[in-house]
Amino acid sequence: MPYKFTFDLSKIPRFFFTEVARISYEKRMHKKIGETLQDLIKKFRIEELTGLNLSDAIHLLEDLVDVETRNFLEREKFKKTKKRALFLPHCSRKFMDSRCKARFEQDTPTYVCAHCSPDCLINEAVSIAERKGYDVYILPGGACVSRILKLKRYDGVVGVACGEELKLAGEVLSQMNIAGQAIPLLKNGCANTIFNIETLSRVL
Ligand code: SF4
Repeated sequence: MPYKFTFDLSKIPRFFFTEVARISYEKRMHKKIGETLQDLIKKFRIEELTGLNLSDAIHLLEDLVDVETRNFLEREKFKKTKKRALFLPHCSRKFMDSRCKARFEQDTPTYVCAHCSPDCLINEAVSIAERKGYDVYILPGGACVSRILKLKRYDGVVGVACGEELKLAGEVLSQMNIAGQAIPLLKNGCANTIFNIETLSRVL
């Protein structure tokens, strides 16, 4: 969990994320966004609703804007890709103990979902992605990204993680000339992390 703080944006209205997308658009238009981010934090009462201090909230929001901007810049290249993989964080599994029936493959390394719980976010994401022809990996940590990409060649990768990890993974993908799309976590932590399944489905 690279952030030094925890956050939970899962209860923030979806309009907030529309605004983040708008700001990333403005960033592409070379406008200054520092003040805009502070206005957005005030408007959506992010400090009160999440307990984040202003500096952490700005840090988080800057990463969200960077991720949105990168997604936009990579989208057309990504749409042309044929062989794709989805990387999911293992901390979004419904259970982090033996109640999760996923098998762990040491060599890859990845968990392989056994679809034991219909209401597990990972189960849902795996099912959608596999129907669309993706190879799916449920990663025990961000360091596995480059390891997997050295084992198997993909031209397109979708990743779900916190903003900081997405930025690091984005650099790995750039070096390997792989088109990427990223879904930021709405709630971080070591367990029960959350991402938006509709957003993921739309990107896949
Ligand atoms: S549905 Fe898959 S990931 Fe979720 S708890 Fe069961 S085996 Fe684990």
